[in-house]
Amino acid sequence: MRPSRLAPLFATVRALKGVGPRIEGLLNKLVAPRHPGAHARAIDLLWHLPVGLIDRAMVPSIADAEIGALATLEVTVAEHRPGGGRRGARAPYKILVEDDSGALELVYFKADASYLKRLLPVGEKRLISGKIESYDGWLQMPHPDHVAPANGKEKLPLIEPVYPLTAGLSNTTLRKAIDGAVYQLPKLPEWIDTGFLTKQAWPSFAEAIKRLHAPQAEGDLLPSATARARLAYDELLANQLALAIIRQRLKKRAGRSLAAGGRLRKEIVGALPFALTGAQVRALAEIDADMASGNRMLRLLQGDVGSGKTIVALLAMANAVEAGTQTALMAPTELLARQHLATISGFAKAAKLRVALLTGRERGRERTQTLDALKDGDIDILIGTHALFQETIRFRDLGLVVIDEQHRFGVHQRLALQAKGTGTGAELLVMTATPIPRTLLLTSYGDMDVSRLDEKPPGRKPILTRTVPLERIDEVIGGVERALARGAQVYWVCPLVAESEVLDVAAAEERYADLRARFGDKVGLVHGKLAGKDKDAVMARFASGALSILVSTTVIEVGVDVPNASIMIIEHAERFGLAQLHQLRGRVGRGAAESSCILLYRQPLGETARERLNVMRNTEDGFVIAEEDLRLRGGGEVLGTRQSGLPAFRIAMLPEHQDLLEAARDDARLQLARDPELKGKDAEALQLLLYLFERDDAVRLIRAG
Ligand code: ADP
Ligand code: MG
Repeated sequence: MRPSRLAPLFATVRALKGVGPRIEGLLNKLVAPRHPGAHARAIDLLWHLPVGLIDRAMVPSIADAEIGALATLEVTVAEHRPGGGRRGARAPYKILVEDDSGALELVYFKADASYLKRLLPVGEKRLISGKIESYDGWLQMPHPDHVAPANGKEKLPLIEPVYPLTAGLSNTTLRKAIDGAVYQLPKLPEWIDTGFLTKQAWPSFAEAIKRLHAPQAEGDLLPSATARARLAYDELLANQLALAIIRQRLKKRAGRSLAAGGRLRKEIVGALPFALTGAQVRALAEIDADMASGNRMLRLLQGDVGSGKTIVALLAMANAVEAGTQTALMAPTELLARQHLATISGFAKAAKLRVALLTGRERGRERTQTLDALKDGDIDILIGTHALFQETIRFRDLGLVVIDEQHRFGVHQRLALQAKGTGTGAELLVMTATPIPRTLLLTSYGDMDVSRLDEKPPGRKPILTRTVPLERIDEVIGGVERALARGAQVYWVCPLVAESEVLDVAAAEERYADLRARFGDKVGLVHGKLAGKDKDAVMARFASGALSILVSTTVIEVGVDVPNASIMIIEHAERFGLAQLHQLRGRVGRGAAESSCILLYRQPLGETARERLNVMRNTEDGFVIAEEDLRLRGGGEVLGTRQSGLPAFRIAMLPEHQDLLEAARDDARLQLARDPELKGKDAEALQLLLYLFERDDAVRLIRAG
């Protein structure tokens, strides 16, 4: 599928000159894509950015050379001193060089004498460059980095890029491999609009790559450098174009409109023990308009934990059902699917909606019955997990799919999958509890329609957040004892010890044993290693009030709703990210009682950890916290982290390239408006761009038409 002219760039690095199996192994370690078994390819080398410069400025004479510094000198070769013939003892091979001011020894530890004699013949002038050292009172240059003829000044790189390395790989070897990759660059048509290119004074793609790897000054290493900016734009354009294509395909469908008078909705709302917030009403109006229009809905419902997304989803589903279709709600985990079932069945009773659950655990006859009922249209709302929808489940007529993403990002690929899986072109509503900053929203969802629940249900009291050093854990436990006497319930979250879940569980088990010794069988433990059924049983006992303290690892989903729980204790809070802390804290403060959150930390605190805990103390606003998170971690890192699920950019940096992102979004929109099928004469270039940045998925969608 990938155009053949890009093939050399996507071939493994072994194809490059000078790269044998050993270097290949090192390059795999350094630059290979992160999925298991992936090999480093030429293109991965192109994206490996220099982080510094070596300045090989000429030094006027040997006498001026500084010990410990790099020097480039013009010298005359005076004498070869082979390092004694005996194998084993092997003294180094030395070559004495000199100029009018003094002398210097070049030292080679594993010498090939005949090679050195050709490289540095006695009596000849040479340019040498390397690090100056002093040994036994002699000036030395061990293994010069460069030796060139005296007239070869232009050939000698006086400024060299310095790259991040891995043990066993030298900068020089890596540079040679990168040069080889740059040499593989094919001639490519320009995909950036000529006017824009001229205005920005950007070089071509190939020229930009060359400049990226031949920085001349520190400024060339910055995100704002011309070559960097051009390539960042390319990457962002590929990202925005791919998202726009996916979105366009998702929206394209036979003009179906799901409009309802709102009878079922009225029945549900009438039975609610509360009134909808203004934000909920606004979100519903936006959703209704999307569903009633002939275009497919593709909307993100963003709202902090506890902002009341579930009821919005249900009321949207009620309209779809009234319009004669079925609906599905997908939860990220089984636990949440069950919780949704409990909540939604309760609310939906008033409108006599038929709700069913289908997860991996429903088996046998029960499962067959549900599947049959779905096919016959006897189920209005099906609740299940994501995994479920990869199977072929047949609805009579699926009108609306709600995806509860909770704190997970990056659904667009899955969206595409699901759109295909459900086949019907159902309306799509994605719910996320992550307050995603605008920048990140754009890069992970593209130009998606967004409704925000930016108003908490009334009556919520602020959560008092305190930070306490671990040494004072006894006081905290004393506080827990008093709170339990008042009938309070407590979440106790144990730290992420390592990447290993086994270790996390061990830490939680230890804390559980401690608390149990003190509080008896009012303490429960739940973690990811428990079987689904056992997890549910513990959660149910906590929800019913039979348990007062729930010790858990972070596997406990943020969507869990136990209004009576009013105390959240997070052990080793300094190890958690801001977003995670915020999500965890959001599990309390849902009931009538005053709530508190205690962040236990180990001293000494690093600068960033301290700032993070301060942010938590100072605000409960998810959007403020998300922006602070972005600032503290730095956009590049946020975008690169696996846990966030956000696209990892190789060149682009956010927020540094924020303005380029906006321009790329507009550009992508324009290109697709002009040529929706990307078939016109400029389209070839854009398709190449998508391949270069490995958005093959988008190209496939285009081809599929
Ligand atoms: P989210 O899924 O956004 O985290 P939920 O939908 O679970 O939030 O709602 C949190 C709690 O707030 C639930 O107990 C829900 O019944 C309640 N709730 C939702 N909307 C309102 C409202 N308008 N007024 C009062 N309580 C509400
Ligand atoms: Mg929820």
